[in-house]
Amino acid sequence: MTVDEKTAEKIDELSDEIRKWAEKYAGDNGWEVNNEEKQLNAVIRGLARNTLKFGEQYCPCRIRSGDREKDKEIICPCIYHKDEIENDGNCHCRFFFK
Ligand code: SF4
Repeated sequence: MTVDEKTAEKIDELSDEIRKWAEKYAGDNGWEVNNEEKQLNAVIRGLARNTLKFGEQYCPCRIRSGDREKDKEIICPCIYHKDEIENDGNCHCRFFFK
């Protein structure tokens, strides 16, 4: 297996875990995950890639500052998502919906 194949496999595995977590987390909060599978998958894979690359599930729709302490704010679920879901109906990434 090549390095690229191993990376792809790891991203698939992480994506499965993130999807399961997100569905439970959304359900526990009375929300839903995006019902557009293509958009949902893009966010999940972005989270999986960031987890693999940086060791944290950083939001794929926000810019990291590079300061680990500050960037804790944008580890999914970020500090903004509850207000965004409440006020806009969904989080910035369109991952979680009211
Ligand atoms: S905007 Fe949504 S996907 Fe991005 S970190 Fe916040 S909760 Fe997660």
